[in-house]
Amino acid sequence: MRLDLCRCLKTSIMSSIVVALGGNALASSDDPSGYTAAHQIAQITRTSEVLADVIADGHSLVIIHGNGPQVGNLLVKNDLARDVVPAVPLYWCVAQTQATIGIELTSALKRHLAARGITVPVVPTLTRVRVDAGDIAFSHPTKPIGLIIDSDNPPDIPLPATHAWRSAGPASWRRVVPSPQPLEIVDTDAISMIIEAGGIAIACGGGGIPVVMHDDKLIGADAVIDKDKTAVMLAAFVRASRLVILTDVDGVAIDFGTERQRFLGTVTVSELEHYLKAGQFGSGSMDAKVCAAIDFVRLTGEPATIGNLADVRKVIEGHAGTCVVADET
Ligand code: ADP
Ligand code: MG
Repeated sequence: MRLDLCRCLKTSIMSSIVVALGGNALASSDDPSGYTAAHQIAQITRTSEVLADVIADGHSLVIIHGNGPQVGNLLVKNDLARDVVPAVPLYWCVAQTQATIGIELTSALKRHLAARGITVPVVPTLTRVRVDAGDIAFSHPTKPIGLIIDSDNPPDIPLPATHAWRSAGPASWRRVVPSPQPLEIVDTDAISMIIEAGGIAIACGGGGIPVVMHDDKLIGADAVIDKDKTAVMLAAFVRASRLVILTDVDGVAIDFGTERQRFLGTVTVSELEHYLKAGQFGSGSMDAKVCAAIDFVRLTGEPATIGNLADVRKVIEGHAGTCVVADET
């Protein structure tokens, strides 16, 4: 990622921590019916409670969240209802998840902050993120999304030109969509205003609403951006003192899932890159977080931590999770 692509926040503000919430923070994985509203609200409420503790400790947060299961479910609704009401573009679905996850985070966070005697604006913002219309992801979609469909042949459901059906095992299929590189957060002015007003910005949800430049106009693009990649841009823009990526494991492990499994404490960029090249991290899960942490540390020199949402206070204080730091010079 190039530094000149990140327009940094110009004005002097209190240093923030950017917190990236993964799927686990937004919906409990024990929901057999596939992310009911009630399960999502309950999990977001639990997440907001621990974030309120962090804010009560005196930290200033900027929050970004994922949206994979939620946007996948909206696409399934599109597919099922296509003969009844017109299907809507994928970037509208991403925008809808920013709104729904944003409103639940706002309600729960404000409630838990009020219980701690803290009154502060919490503002979810619709955030567009520019991508390149020529990004190879638009001709080679890779991000699996939505339900797995049992069928011998690819499902007979019309797809936008840039989406495809990919085999997900014997007689099962799943939609893949483009996941282009984020180039620029478009709506930085809104994020700045919230932070400068002392508020908590919830921004770039789901990696941001993808837009491309077309005839001098920004138009929506049918894609889903990796939220960990956008988190790096957001953290660079707000000049974050730390990027904190929260998930459901205690950090980054070597020999994950084996008897030799060992969670890394503090690790340098070079050490982590060595493990990355050795294929230590799950593809599409931990590797994306590791790459984001490395990019952030390289770009800013500040640390990035990957840790368990349940331990967020310790993770932020550097007493839990995997803390990625710059190489010694
Ligand atoms: P989230 O949805 O919370 O953003 P992901 O599911 O994408 O998180 O990634 C976290 C998962 O990565 C963990 O639950 C774990 O199963 C998996 N994982 C794969 N490799 C590793 C590793 N080396 N260390 C830790 N977790 C790993
Ligand atoms: Mg996940």
